[in-house]
Amino acid sequence: MSSNKPIVGVSACVVGQQVRFDTGHKRSFFVDQQLRELVDFKPVCPEMGSGMPTPRPTIRLRWVGEQIRLMDDKNHIDHTDSMNRFNEQILPSLSHLSGFVVCAKSPSCGMERVKVVQEDGKGAERNGRGLFTQALMERYPLLPVEEDGRLNDLNLRENFVLRVMVYHEAQTLIAEPTQHGLLAFHRKHKLLLLAHNEPLYRQLGPLVGSEFDGTIEQKVDTYLKGMMKALAKPATRRGHTNVLQHIQGYFKKDIDAGEKQHLQDTILAYRAGRLPLMAPLAVVEHILARYPKPYIEQQSYLHPTPEQLALRCNL
Ligand code: SF4
Repeated sequence: MSSNKPIVGVSACVVGQQVRFDTGHKRSFFVDQQLRELVDFKPVCPEMGSGMPTPRPTIRLRWVGEQIRLMDDKNHIDHTDSMNRFNEQILPSLSHLSGFVVCAKSPSCGMERVKVVQEDGKGAERNGRGLFTQALMERYPLLPVEEDGRLNDLNLRENFVLRVMVYHEAQTLIAEPTQHGLLAFHRKHKLLLLAHNEPLYRQLGPLVGSEFDGTIEQKVDTYLKGMMKALAKPATRRGHTNVLQHIQGYFKKDIDAGEKQHLQDTILAYRAGRLPLMAPLAVVEHILARYPKPYIEQQSYLHPTPEQLALRCNL
C-alpha cells in the first residue's frame, strides 16, 4: 500500500534475541522469517532495558494494596518503578512504529490474560497486561498490537498484517492532515471498512464529507479512531459477502446471466464455508480484467496485504 517498509516493534525474544530470564529466546517462525520480509523490526526488551540482567530471577505481576506491581518475590525486589522509568524514556521514540508484536504471557510484554497473583500469593487470575504493553497501548491507542502466539491463528495473522499496512499509510495522513488526503484515504479503504464493520462504515462516510466542528487534525483523528476500531476485529464471512455482493452490483450491466449466476453461486458457496475467500475474489478479478472499474480496482479490499504471505488463501 505504501512504498517504504513499515517499521514494527517486536519483543526482542520473539525475533530470537537471547534476552529471556533463562538466557533463552522465544523465536516465532512467522514473525522472524515471513513477517521480516515485509517490515523492518525495532526489537525491544523492556526487562533488559529497565536494567535487569540475563539470566535473572523470574518476575510476576502481583497485587500490592490497590496496585498491580512487577515483583521478584523470591528476592523481595519491586521492579515497577524501573519499568515505568524505562517506559517513559522509550515510548516517545516509538511514534514511527506501524505495529508491535509482543510476547504472550510475560508480565512485561503480554497483551492479555497475563497472570496476576493475589497479594498473599495464594491465588491468581489471568486478566492482566504486561506493564510495558499497557503503557505502549495507552500512549499509542491506534497502534496495531498483537501477541506472538495469536499470530499462529491465520485469521488474526491476516488481520494484524492488514492493520499494520493501513496504519502505516494512515501515519502519512496524520503527519500531513488535509481534507483532500482524508477523502483519498477513505475512498481507497471504503470497502475494507464495510467488510469489517458496517455501522462504522455508515458513520465514517458522512464524517469525511461533512463540515466538522473542529480542526482537520481532530477530524482525521476521529476518523482514524473509527477506522482502526473497525479493523481491530477480523471481517466475518458475512462482512465479506456483503462487500462481494456490493462489488457484484457494479457489473450488472456488463456480465451476462450465466456469469452473474456463477459469481453469485461462488459468493454464496464462500458464505456457506464451502469455498475460501480467494474463490469469489478470483471471479471478481477475472471480470474486472474484462470490464475495468477504476473505483473497484483502487479498493484496498482487493489487495489488503502483500501477496507473498498468501494470507487470504487460508480464509
Ligand atoms: Fe524481554 Fe519481553 Fe521477551 Fe521478556 S517477553 S524477554 S521482557 S522481550
